Amino acid sequence: MMDLKDLVRPNIWELKPYSSARDEFHGSASVFLDANENPYNEPYNRYPDPLQWELKDRIAELKDVDRNSIFLGNGSDEPIDLVIRAFCDPAVDCIVSITPTYGMYEVAANVNDVEFRKVTLTPDFELDADKLLAEVDEWVKIIFLCSPNNPTGNSLNRDEIYKILNNFEGIVILDEAYIDFSEEPSFLPELKKFPNLIILQTLSKAWGAAGIRLGMAFASPEIVAILNKIKYPYNVNVLTQERALDILNNETEMLRQLRSIMSERIRLQAALPELSVVNKMYPTDANFILVDVGKADSVYNKLVKKGVIVRNRNNVTLCHGCLRITVGTPEENDALLKALKSI
Ligand code: PMP
Repeated sequence: MMDLKDLVRPNIWELKPYSSARDEFHGSASVFLDANENPYNEPYNRYPDPLQWELKDRIAELKDVDRNSIFLGNGSDEPIDLVIRAFCDPAVDCIVSITPTYGMYEVAANVNDVEFRKVTLTPDFELDADKLLAEVDEWVKIIFLCSPNNPTGNSLNRDEIYKILNNFEGIVILDEAYIDFSEEPSFLPELKKFPNLIILQTLSKAWGAAGIRLGMAFASPEIVAILNKIKYPYNVNVLTQERALDILNNETEMLRQLRSIMSERIRLQAALPELSVVNKMYPTDANFILVDVGKADSVYNKLVKKGVIVRNRNNVTLCHGCLRITVGTPEENDALLKALKSI
């Protein structure tokens, strides 16, 4: 990996961050008159902990990582944007990623005026590391990968991911939003070996909390310190911190839901290929299944008329004719199968 100082934008490296009241004093006291808060309406009158330590301690325990290697944000979308802002000079630096993949990487690059180069996956949605590395030049600061990948559902080949980690001098972001649904292990235990690796996970999928917006980035303490420097001071609100802690303290419930989703995934994987409307079903390591139905727009519209909404991926690279179907409750999946059967 290049020296972090040479990778980070010079203005960000030099940046003196905003220092909030809660940064300047943390600890217990009987009288807090330092943040211009209203003294009434406890506890929501108070600003949240800017670095979310209670929550990070629980995540550190769950994930077996150092608390200083955790960054928390307003969904994964926040660290996606912050990493681009930290490392890529607008109109100068570049990002390389795969296609198809999660659309926010490209949108965040465009918002920041950063060129986004896309390398098409193989027809079976596999990553070709050499092809991707061939797009790298001195301006490429970040490579975005997603495994299990959205919308394809498959995990990327681990050896190809290692090849990129071992051969790219910049930052590699590996988005593991769907890792809890996968047979493949997370790359989290590899963090110490690869100082250029940033792993994204989220409470929005297996933890069932998309509504509270909590995204996690795991990286070296040095990278986390840079993200902390540029984030909004109070980026994760009190309600989210409280609720996230409750949810993370009830791992049993998450595992119960995960078991149900996994067994429903197996049921759908058996039922979908039997339907005349389905031409092909792709393997999945996530909580969704990509199916080729041929005339995807027409099938999508017919499903909408029956009150069943899936994601139409007809216009996405390599996904022509495909719908992406999220695994729901047993009743929801019954409704989906019934609707597809009658098309
Ligand atoms: N990463 C991937 C691969 C996703 O598919 C999604 C949501 N569809 C996200 C991140 C967004 O996660 P969050 O809700 O934490 O912003």
